[in-house]
Amino acid sequence: MTDIRKEFLDIVADIRTHLEYRRALGLRSVETIPGKPASRSARPQPAPDATTPLTAAPEVSRRPTTAASAGPQETLEAVRADIGDCMRCKLHKGRKNIVFGEGIPGAVLVFVGEGPGFEEDQQGRPFVGAAGQLLTDIIVKGMKLAREDVYICNIVKCRPPDNRNPEPDEVEACIGFVKRQIAAINPRVIVTLGNVPTQNLLMTKQGITKLRGVWQEYQGIPVIPTFHPSYLLRSPGEKKKVWEDIKLVMEKLGLKLS
Ligand code: URA
Repeated sequence: MTDIRKEFLDIVADIRTHLEYRRALGLRSVETIPGKPASRSARPQPAPDATTPLTAAPEVSRRPTTAASAGPQETLEAVRADIGDCMRCKLHKGRKNIVFGEGIPGAVLVFVGEGPGFEEDQQGRPFVGAAGQLLTDIIVKGMKLAREDVYICNIVKCRPPDNRNPEPDEVEACIGFVKRQIAAINPRVIVTLGNVPTQNLLMTKQGITKLRGVWQEYQGIPVIPTFHPSYLLRSPGEKKKVWEDIKLVMEKLGLKLS
């Protein structure tokens, strides 16, 4: 096969995976990018808020609303507003920014980390340092999704000093917010990254080495615990195991493996 043909087929496969994910999100259309100049062959650009039909509308495959999640849902904005300029625990003293989380509010996939590091605290965004780059690679290169297609957040919203683990009183003060974020998003799958989110969300003392790659459940939502990307930076030989875990997630979401 020629290089150019292979490249073309790879692009088609990536687009297909991305569209399947959007379908899993329940999205039936592709937004046009406002202000993007039309290419020579493109039709005239529709109005910025217009949408173009994707394909024959597939059945929406988001999780059905359960009794527990029925009724008016709290929004992510409401959760963020409730956090306010938080001083509920001592971590507020050293923070520059609260790192709430980011991604699509209706994401079918949520990654939960431990807490912001230096770079995250500076920027007010989760997973934007070295470990974040690795997580982004897992999402973009591994899963063939865009980072914006998923939701990324942490157990604590303020940086623990010297990147230590959050202490029990800090987790206790903050964990309600990540739980409310998850309830607002109602994803189909959660990936917990490392011991802190795994043990605190699943209420277990078992370690990540035992739990990783084994389906768990949080409030009826399937959870895959896997290694934290910071651990992978120190032990790159463990990346294969994380890829095995991510493949389980892709399978559960109906995403094609490349
Ligand atoms: N590690 C985490 O657990 N969360 C981040 O946001 C960044 C690094």
